[in-house]
Amino acid sequence: MNTAQVTAEFEVRNPADGRVVARVREQSAEQVAEAVRALRARQPEWEALGARGRARWLMRLQDWLVDQSDRLTDVVQSETGKTRFDAAIEVPCAIDLAKYWAGHAEAFLADERPRPHSPIGRTKRLLNTFRPYPVVGIVTPWNLPLMNPCFDAFAALMAGAAVVLKPSEVTPLSAVELARGWAEIGAPPVFTVLTGAAETGRAVVDAVDYVQFTGSTGTGRAIAVACGHSLTPYSLELGGKDPAIVLADADVDRAAAGIVYGALFNAGQACISVERVYVEAPVYDRFVTALIARVRALRLGGDDRGFRYDVGAMATAAQRDIVRDQVDAAVAAGARILIGGKAVGAGLFFEPTVLVDVDHSMSCMTQETFGPTIPVVRVADEDEAVRLANDSVYGLSATVWTGDRRRGERIARRLEVGAVNINDAFANLVNFALPMGGWKDSGIGARWGGAAGIRKYCRQQAITVPRRALRREPLWYPASRWRSMLVTGLMRAVDAGGVRKLPHALRAGRS
Ligand code: NAD
Repeated sequence: MNTAQVTAEFEVRNPADGRVVARVREQSAEQVAEAVRALRARQPEWEALGARGRARWLMRLQDWLVDQSDRLTDVVQSETGKTRFDAAIEVPCAIDLAKYWAGHAEAFLADERPRPHSPIGRTKRLLNTFRPYPVVGIVTPWNLPLMNPCFDAFAALMAGAAVVLKPSEVTPLSAVELARGWAEIGAPPVFTVLTGAAETGRAVVDAVDYVQFTGSTGTGRAIAVACGHSLTPYSLELGGKDPAIVLADADVDRAAAGIVYGALFNAGQACISVERVYVEAPVYDRFVTALIARVRALRLGGDDRGFRYDVGAMATAAQRDIVRDQVDAAVAAGARILIGGKAVGAGLFFEPTVLVDVDHSMSCMTQETFGPTIPVVRVADEDEAVRLANDSVYGLSATVWTGDRRRGERIARRLEVGAVNINDAFANLVNFALPMGGWKDSGIGARWGGAAGIRKYCRQQAITVPRRALRREPLWYPASRWRSMLVTGLMRAVDAGGVRKLPHALRAGRS
């Protein structure tokens, strides 16, 4: 970590009980600029290590993650108020992702040797190489404080970039641990974590060569404007309002169980949470009954190492208030709460809540909730479900629940979202061979998904090499009618085809 002059500190609290768990540095714009300068200086040697050399370091970090797993899960819980069950998944996901990139980086970054597109181009050997942006800036939110940084930092590091990571001011501790791990394994100093709030984030955006942002759509827009100004390339993973479609031929119990998990994992604070449910009329009553039974059985509580709870705390009071306001507004407009509906306990808890009689005039159906609510709508048929699912500014992901997999796939292709999980929630998130990215206001670009997920941190460099050393090329000066005709005639003959398309003079020469 950068140890430059400290200007200020801020508190990190455990939302399950309000306890202050740490004080963390607020890094100034000058400190950010200095840290980025240091990274820039060390990046060439990191790039020179090659993909295999860099992968060795990532696998050492993976060892460290394995060794520190329990302690890191404690840290995640301490700053989020999550249940042990939700927190325990973060380290294994990071371990899995490290293996994915370490195992594939070399192949994904290998030079391409495309065939020239025309016979004329065969005088050259063509190379397409992937050269990293020197410094990648990663700005992350609070919902998955260890996973989110790993999601993007591993790929950028494996690409050969140096990385500066700015975690959320709400949950910076897990990211600080990650930087500690990088230093403890003795890796080259090309990974720095800078803590602070929006000001620090802005300074990171200003200082780096590529920005990878995960967070709200509003902040994403501000970053896009800043990047547009400086012509810095960027990728945005933003908010969502993911629909679930339950068809009449679905296994209703599985759909209810899957949607409860998909909606309430992490107390609903996941970008790909199920946030609205459309159920075909014939199974609506059965589905709602099954849903209520499952929600009623959930245990609300957090910050316990014993897996005693299912649903944990909201991360901030502001987030809890968004959920409460949406529920209150829906009820005022005619919705009914079937279970839950209020904030409870000493910490920032909100009861898992099922809402019915809701429609698209209500904020709980149109705005991102990022909380433990499940609004359910009865629909006449598949077409109405698809129409309502697509009636959103967001397009992150969706789930379709059906007994007919082909029907599910057909419906998936009608949905305007970046990913569709059939008869499951979150499956795309843990399948790194697929891209994860949002459509519409849910983002620009995508993470992982094969070679594209690492090449996004690279600039392509085209190299041409002559196959044979000629004394001169036909189009070099001085100008000459006959050399011009030779070249343009050849191009037209090869590319256009047919005697009619040859230059007039050549045709005249033929006849
Ligand atoms: P946020 O946008 O408030 O903050 C995200 C990060 O941006 C924080 O680190 C913050 O300090 C920083 N930041 C704020 N203003 C900035 C600016 N002007 N320039 C640079 N950095 C700035 O988001 P949040 O409340 O922390 O997270 C919740 C949001 O994240 C939700 O909308 C959720 O859907 C989204 N999210 C998306 C994904 C995804 O993959 N699509 C994953 C997780 C969370």
